[in-house]
Amino acid sequence: MIKVVVAGAAGRMGQESCRAVWRSQDMVLAGAVDTGRDGESLGKVAGIEDVDLKLFGDLETALKELKPDILVDFTNPEVVFDNVKLTLNNNVRPVVGTTGMSTEQIEEIKNLAKDKGLSGLIAPNFAIGALLMIKFATMAAKHFPHVEIIELHHDQKVDAPSGTAIKTAEALAEVRGNLRQGLPTEYEEIEGVRGGDFEGMRVHSVRLPGHVAHQEVIFGGTGQTLTIRHDSISRESFMPGLLMGIRKVIDSNELVYGLENLIFE
Ligand code: NAD
Repeated sequence: MIKVVVAGAAGRMGQESCRAVWRSQDMVLAGAVDTGRDGESLGKVAGIEDVDLKLFGDLETALKELKPDILVDFTNPEVVFDNVKLTLNNNVRPVVGTTGMSTEQIEEIKNLAKDKGLSGLIAPNFAIGALLMIKFATMAAKHFPHVEIIELHHDQKVDAPSGTAIKTAEALAEVRGNLRQGLPTEYEEIEGVRGGDFEGMRVHSVRLPGHVAHQEVIFGGTGQTLTIRHDSISRESFMPGLLMGIRKVIDSNELVYGLENLIFE
């Protein structure tokens, strides 16, 4: 059995992760952490009736007492970097869903994992459909280099654009290069209306209640357009990928950025 602890357990993704790990046949939910929730019933917080565990309010205490195989992190962009370093320094493998870490921070974490001889995963999107969207978009960009990305999320999300939009833009840039799109003389009547610029392509972030996580990649060519769209309509959409990621990390010996590197050939 794979022993898992979840950090950010009282949050939207953390609760869903606790339920998914609890239900899985090959994992045991050893405990969970959320700041300021020390001693609260995990069963009540995560809505799992038969869990008789208390939340930890501090990650280091939980790691030292529970000694899990895997720490799942769904916290927030401000704390995730320190959480992951703490996890590795306690000889626990991290599986990280929290977005917002910089390329430099991810590189530092990869190096730390290597030094410690630990595997791990940083995955800005666990929805397998979203990973396929990026793969299909990368195929399309060879034929349609003119592209814009629109990502749509709930209005409680702190970072913009989404980690998935950044990953998509990075993957597309590898294929299309740095191609400046649009009219060279275009200007904005409202500041920011053309979105953010990533190597010449535009990225737009929509934040509205009623959304979970959605993204369109729109290609424009001569006399035609192509739209590739993915919708996560509930947070359960991330769970098959999360469980798959945990299993892959147990069998792996390096820390990987992107679930696609573990599940696609
Ligand atoms: P949320 O605000 O609902 O939950 C975050 C939780 O983390 C809160 O309960 C908070 O108290 C807790 N927390 C903060 N600091 C902590 C710390 N140091 N230790 C332990 N707990 C701490 O957020 P959410 O909607 O669940 O999203 C969490 C993260 O996951 C965000 O970065 C979001 O972008 C990302 N996300 C990733 C995926 C994916 O597939 N990788 C999918 C959805 C969301």
